[in-house]
Amino acid sequence: MPRIAIIPIHQDNYSYILSLNGVNIAIDPGEAEPVMDHLREQKCGLDVILNTHMHQDHSHGNLALKQATGCKIMGRDERIPGIDQVLTQEGALPAPVQKLQMLATPGHTLKDCCYYLPPQGEHPGALFSGDTLFSGGCGRVFEGTIEQLFQSLQTLAALPPETLIYCGHEYTLDNYRFAERMEPNSLAVRRKRQQVESFRQRGEPSLPVSVGEELETNPFLRPHDPALRRALHMEDASDLEIFTILREKKNRF
Ligand code: ZN
Ligand code: FE
Repeated sequence: MPRIAIIPIHQDNYSYILSLNGVNIAIDPGEAEPVMDHLREQKCGLDVILNTHMHQDHSHGNLALKQATGCKIMGRDERIPGIDQVLTQEGALPAPVQKLQMLATPGHTLKDCCYYLPPQGEHPGALFSGDTLFSGGCGRVFEGTIEQLFQSLQTLAALPPETLIYCGHEYTLDNYRFAERMEPNSLAVRRKRQQVESFRQRGEPSLPVSVGEELETNPFLRPHDPALRRALHMEDASDLEIFTILREKKNRF
């Protein structure tokens, strides 16, 4: 069974350590120390770093961790600090992380990607979604186009609904406050916002969440939903138009 540790770093980032058949993988170590502390506690080494994109808050710990552990760094963007292997093909990653798949998800940056672990025995599978998909929201467009981000989210939405999502930031409460503003009459969205509020009051992460749950409440995954379209007074718009308007409104929220 895979084990996934959630490591809070910086203000509101999450780094993750995935242990899979004795292989230890750090995803988006934006800071080295908290990751090192966890490795020391667990008395384990580090084999591979996977970065979803090149932003500092996701990769600042790379060099120190590589120096301390001799791990190998992989990602899709040649700008990632200390990168050893630039991933050019979607699908299975190279050994020793061949159980994971790379999904190209441009939009937030041009060379963004997500990492997908298919179901392993009883485990429903996991998605490390970086700054592309958040619980209740999605990333901003920095380098790519809104069409690219839209397409990338469609790819993620098509994963099995049981898949657990581990995203790059704890933005969930803000996202669901925005979602509620967009759909004040949605009971599902309100319940979700209340649930996240109590998680955060207890100081617990709001993650992971399942793809299926996000499909019901995350407005950025539901541009086709008649109720959302009615609430926005945009019943005749295309899915991309709805998505674009949501992203613009969220930028100003
Ligand atoms: Zn970012
Ligand atoms: Fe970020």
